[in-house]
Amino acid sequence: MKTTEFKAWIKSIERMNRNQRDKLRKSSEEKKDADEVIALIERSSDDKPSCPRCKATKLYRWGKVSDLQLYRCRQYNRTFNALTGTPLARLRHKDKWFEYEQTMIHKVKASVKQRITVG
Ligand SMILES: [Zn+2]
Repeated sequence: MKTTEFKAWIKSIERMNRNQRDKLRKSSEEKKDADEVIALIERSSDDKPSCPRCKATKLYRWGKVSDLQLYRCRQYNRTFNALTGTPLARLRHKDKWFEYEQTMIHKVKASVKQRITVG
């Protein structure tokens, strides 16, 4: 979003009623949860990302999809992210994950850790 757009948008908050502001707050809290989940996933996998298919560690950074860093294996030109090869790869609504904080987050960590150590 451009800075000028953002400034105009911020100004429009003043014209919102209480109900609209509540909705905005709830929505931004959900986004914050999603950001935290993504940060956690990336932190867990930042040590040494490797290709889930051929275990190669020679990778290109290949942009981002759904805010997750995408890598491209130099050997086979296949792309993947920190969740590829884990049961979480196809899960949508990452913002809802924090509802399962005690179970899901630990599974994410364990899953990513396992992928790094086992390959
Ligand atoms: Zn590979």
